[in-house]
Amino acid sequence: MCSNRLREEIKANFAGQVLFDEPLSRHTSWKVGGPAEILVTPVSIDDLRTAVLIAWKNNVPVTILGNGTNVLVADRGVEGLTIKMRGLRNWDVSGERITAEAGVNLPELSRIAQGHNLSGLEFAAGIPASVGGAVVSNAGAHGSSMQDIVRSVLVMDYQGVLHTFAGSELGFGYRSSMFRDGRFIVLQSVMDLEPMPGEQVKEKMQHYLGVRSRTQPVESATAGSVFVNPASVPAGLLIEKAGLKGAREGGAQVSHKHANFIVNADNATASDIVRLIRRIQEQVYSMFGIKLETEIRFLGGEVP
Ligand SMILES: Cc1cc2nc3c(=O)[nH]c(=O)nc-3n(C[C@H](O)[C@H](O)[C@H](O)COP(=O)(O)OP(=O)(O)OC[C@H]3O[C@@H](n4cnc5c(N)ncnc54)[C@H](O)[C@@H]3O)c2cc1C
Repeated sequence: MCSNRLREEIKANFAGQVLFDEPLSRHTSWKVGGPAEILVTPVSIDDLRTAVLIAWKNNVPVTILGNGTNVLVADRGVEGLTIKMRGLRNWDVSGERITAEAGVNLPELSRIAQGHNLSGLEFAAGIPASVGGAVVSNAGAHGSSMQDIVRSVLVMDYQGVLHTFAGSELGFGYRSSMFRDGRFIVLQSVMDLEPMPGEQVKEKMQHYLGVRSRTQPVESATAGSVFVNPASVPAGLLIEKAGLKGAREGGAQVSHKHANFIVNADNATASDIVRLIRRIQEQVYSMFGIKLETEIRFLGGEVP
């Protein structure tokens, strides 16, 4: 789909890294996924705009990648331009307010907050997201989520125009926001925290990290929770009760530690994972009449 002329145009006009036919398995926590035709990592908002406008002018699809910790990339890869937000990494602390670009690592940001005696990001210490990805999915844990702290967000549309939205306009819900439909690229988030002695903040973070390492396969290649928890019962419990802990399709396996996690146990492909997802959905539905919806996002097609 991307002509040599387009590849040359991107290379000539873009300041950040440009990779062609780059395996996305190198850019996702599941370590799964075929190549991105073109993968760019903008280093500034202007750089991002350059990429977006070239794609728009050439009618090429754009896919946004944060830290790749909640996506399943198809084995055939992703056509068009994939934009990795990791290069937008500036942040600033002013009083109780933190402003962070989309590519800032969320656990890193929670440590920055702790270092400035600010509370509110402890829940995020073990969520391996980028700030942008965390806003898009309203990432959360331990009873808190991004919606509790996000005051405003700066975004770009696919014609390169900037917009600002207040936190109250973002339609936050359980693992969702209005950005889930992919109409905007999240560039920066302003977050309001509360003062608290750093030692106290650190204790909370360590407690949460301890809970996580006891209950989740943090040492394995996963994408976090695969399914959204139904209102009545955690998805992991349903999967466990369906007898699927340890179930395997190819190299993909339901974690023994937490049944809502699928582990890349042995060179899994995206189709192994999709087969396992389907099997879980079918078995849970036939035993409990509950349809499990996926939390992970599919890039490059292949929706189960
Ligand atoms: C070990 C582990 C533990 C986890 N624990 C938790 C947890 O406790 N709570 C939780 O909520 N999640 C958890 N997750 C899942 C994941 O970290 C979150 O869903 C996170 O918000 C995804 O962020 P990301 O930057 O990795 O986004 P990606 O996975 O790269 O992308 C996710 C989606 O957001 C879009 N996107 C990403 N960045 C942007 C942007 N800047 N603008 C527009 N769209 C964008 C992508 O196109 C894609 O559709 C866990 C994952 C792992 C691997």
